[in-house]
Amino acid sequence: MSKVFDTIILGGGPAGLTAALYAGRATLDTLLIERGMYGGQIATTYTVDNYPGSDLGVTGPDIADKMRAQAEAFGTNFVQEDIQEVSLEGDIKTVKTRKNEYKAKTIIIATGASPKLAGFKGEDQLTGRGVSYCATCDGAFYSELEIAVVGGGDSAVEESLFLTKFAKKVTIIHRRDEFRAAQYLVDKAKENPKIEFLLDSVVEETISEENSLTGLKVKNVKTNEISDLDVSGVFVFVGYDAITDLYKGQVKMNRLDEILTDTFMQTNIPGVFAAGDVRETVMRQVVTATSDGAVAAFVAGRYLSEIE
Ligand code: NAP
Repeated sequence: MSKVFDTIILGGGPAGLTAALYAGRATLDTLLIERGMYGGQIATTYTVDNYPGSDLGVTGPDIADKMRAQAEAFGTNFVQEDIQEVSLEGDIKTVKTRKNEYKAKTIIIATGASPKLAGFKGEDQLTGRGVSYCATCDGAFYSELEIAVVGGGDSAVEESLFLTKFAKKVTIIHRRDEFRAAQYLVDKAKENPKIEFLLDSVVEETISEENSLTGLKVKNVKTNEISDLDVSGVFVFVGYDAITDLYKGQVKMNRLDEILTDTFMQTNIPGVFAAGDVRETVMRQVVTATSDGAVAAFVAGRYLSEIE
């Protein structure tokens, strides 16, 4: 029979990396599988200024590198493979990637979330040609150009502030006149001379030339008036969807397809835990993801000692 790990952690963002650290320190035989960059969403976040104890101005990738090194130091194994299929029922769980099949007694699901589309006409077609979901990746392309940001949450306002490092002007287009973002971020944006606001407004469609974005048709939702905004790029930050397709029909989820857990991060399936943005939770922060990961690994260890 092939090797059976104590625990396999699916996903290498802050929740998964912290679970890896705690599982490693508890001497569980642990494997973490990540398909892309370690760090999840913070891998593409310029600065993280609310993770306690970290230096002001520290970058997301810096934190991710340190988290990974720390988990590795305690013996967690890492592979970068794309997970294709997961079988969670029974005492031994199976994870199939494109290359391998892995088995474990417990699974910690920490596959995080991916950006939502705003839903305006042309958004899909112009992704990578003026429509972006990652300021850290694409911001530098818009040096001294005028751009827009869609959304009114922490991501939209924080990333707008970051984008002023490159752009000549950043217009935040938000569908209401009140922000979901933390007030200190909104205040900072209001003080920034490069940021303008188009409130009570939604993007209707893109304007393009030779398959590249040149502007947006924006509708004021109160007056129904439509105006053209000349911009070379638009960054969409309208929230995230939990990445849970692999577990549908196995673990219980809410109507948004976020995994339901108890406060011990246990799902409805014995030996299966979920941590971070993949689960139904009230706050989506690095600090809450790391906390979830620690709890999941601790309770997985307790479950293992009960079944052995
Ligand atoms: P969010 O908090 O869900 O905000 C999404 C924003 O997009 C809202 O303002 C929403 O408008 C708007 N929106 C949603 N769908 C839209 C659509 N189809 N068209 C136009 N606008 C739309 O998402 P987020 O900002 O990505 O944040 C996600 C989580 O990560 C939150 O828990 C947030 O606190 C956290 N986060 C924290 C930090 C930090 O602490 N530094 C940084 C980034 C993210 P309405 O307000 O009208 O609903």
